[in-house]
Amino acid sequence: IPVDPFDLVIFGGTGDLARRKILPGLFRRFCGGQMPPEARIIGAARSDMDDAGFRQMVAESIHEFGDKRHPHEDQLPAFLERVSYETVDATGDGGWTALKARLRPGTVRAFYFSVGPSLFGDLAERLRGFGLADDDSRVVVEKPFGHDLKSARALNATLARHFSEQQIYRIDHYLGKETVQNLMAVRFGNMLFEPLWNAQYVDHIQITVAETVGVGGRGGYYDKSGAMRDMVQNHLMQLLCLIAMEPPARFEPDSVRDEKLKVIRALDPVDWHHIVRGQYAPDGDTPGYRHDVEDPRSRTESFVALKCHVSNWRWAGTPFYLRTGKKLRARTSEIAVVFKDAPHSIFGADAGRHRNVLSIRLQPNEGITLGVTIKEPGPGGMRLVDVPLDMTFADALGPDVEDVPDAYERLIMDVIRGNQTLFMRGDEVEAAWAWTDPIIEGWIARNEVPKPYDVGSSGPDDSLMLMHKDGRKWREIR
Ligand code: NAD
Repeated sequence: IPVDPFDLVIFGGTGDLARRKILPGLFRRFCGGQMPPEARIIGAARSDMDDAGFRQMVAESIHEFGDKRHPHEDQLPAFLERVSYETVDATGDGGWTALKARLRPGTVRAFYFSVGPSLFGDLAERLRGFGLADDDSRVVVEKPFGHDLKSARALNATLARHFSEQQIYRIDHYLGKETVQNLMAVRFGNMLFEPLWNAQYVDHIQITVAETVGVGGRGGYYDKSGAMRDMVQNHLMQLLCLIAMEPPARFEPDSVRDEKLKVIRALDPVDWHHIVRGQYAPDGDTPGYRHDVEDPRSRTESFVALKCHVSNWRWAGTPFYLRTGKKLRARTSEIAVVFKDAPHSIFGADAGRHRNVLSIRLQPNEGITLGVTIKEPGPGGMRLVDVPLDMTFADALGPDVEDVPDAYERLIMDVIRGNQTLFMRGDEVEAAWAWTDPIIEGWIARNEVPKPYDVGSSGPDDSLMLMHKDGRKWREIR
C-alpha cells in the first residue's frame, strides 16, 4: 500500500548511514511500489554539492549497498528524479531558505537527523526558526540517544522545545526487523504460547547479539561508548522489553510503549557479580581492541554479558541473560526462550533430557523456530530427539519474497504513515539509561579492567561461567 506523498529531508545525506542504509532502503520501497510518484527526497549536508552530484552519489550507494538480487536498474532513473540536494550548515544560517523553497505545502514533511546528536539542537532550532517545520512535521533521530541519563534528558528537553513527543521518531533499527514483529505476531496472535509465557514454564531467556567485526573505523567513537552503551542500553533492552512485556491492549504506539516502559522499570539493579565485561585480545599478528582504538590502556568493553531479573508477577525468579560483543565467532542475533523440563519423564533416563526452545533469530536467516521433542525414527526403541519446527517467513512464502522490507525501509515508511509503535519514546530511553548508568558507574568506581577474550571465540570464559554457575548453557554462537 503506497504511503502519502512526502518530502523527506535527510540531514547528513552524504554520510555513511545515509549511503549504506537510508538511500538504498528508500529505493527498495520505491521499487516495491510503496513510495508514491509525488514523493521527494532531499539530501542536506555540509558538503558543497549540486543535485547532479548528489544523484550520482545516491546511484553509487545503491549499486554498492542496495539489493543485489533485485537491482531494478531500470527503475533507478525514475527514483533519482525524485532526489535533490541542498548544502546546509546545521550550525549556521546558510542554505536554509533555499531548502525551505524545495518543500511543498500540503505534503507530509519528515526530517531525518542522520548526523551526530550534538547537532540535534541546532537543526531543531533552525527548522522552526526558518519555518521549515510545523506542528505536523516529523523528525527522525538516530542513536546514540545520549551518553547517559543526564545527556538523554538534555536531548529530550532540546527536542521538546521545538517538537511534541508525537513528532519525534527515535530509531532503534532492531525494532524494524521483520522477525521482531513476527515475534509479536507469534506471541499475541496464537493461543499456544502466551499461557506458557511466564516464570512457571520458562526456565530462562537468553539474548545474544554477536558481531564478527571489530570497531572498524569508528574506534574513536566506540571507545567513548563501549558495548553497554552502544548495544545493551538500546538494542538488547528493546528486545528484552518485547519478550517480557504484558500483552498491550492494542498494537498501537502508546499501548505498546507503556508496556515496554513497565518492563524497564521492573528491572532489578544488576548485581555486579552477574556482569562480565570483555575486550578482544591481540592474537599473533591480529591486533586487539586497544590497538584498534589506538589507546594502549583503554578499559572500554567490546563485550558484555549479564544476568538480570524482571521483578514482576509474570517473571519473578526467571533469569534473563544478555550478551553482546565484537570479533566473536559468528555474526548472529538471537533471542531464545528456554522452557522448563517436562515435570516427569515417562520414557526413563535413557531417552535423554529435552527442552523446548523457541528461537527468534534476527540475523542471519531471520526466522523463528520452535524446538520440539519427538521420537527418533526407526526401530531403536523410545529414544527422543529435538527437531526444529520452522516458522521462517522466507521459507513459508518461498525464497523469492522480494517485498520483505529491511528494518530501515520499514521504519521510514512508518514515519511517513505517522506510526510510532516501533520507535522509542523519550521516557523509555531515559528509563533504560537509569538502569544502565549505575552499571557503568560501578565499573569506573571499582576501576574494573575488562577480561581479555580471543578473536573468534564466544567471549571471555567468565561469561560462560555466568551460565554454568546456574547449571545453564549459552546457545552456540554460529
Ligand atoms: P558520517 O560522519 O558518515 O556523516 C555525517 C553527515 O553529517 C555528513 O553528511 C556530513 O556532511 C553531515 N554534517 C556534519 N556536520 C554538519 C553540519 N554542521 N551541518 C550539516 N551537515 C553536517 O556519520 P554517519 O555514520 O552517517 O552517522 C550519522 C548519525 O547516525 C550519527 O549520529 C551516528 O551515530 C548515527 N548512526 C550511524 C550508524 C552507521 O552505521 N553509520 C549506525 C547507527 C547510528
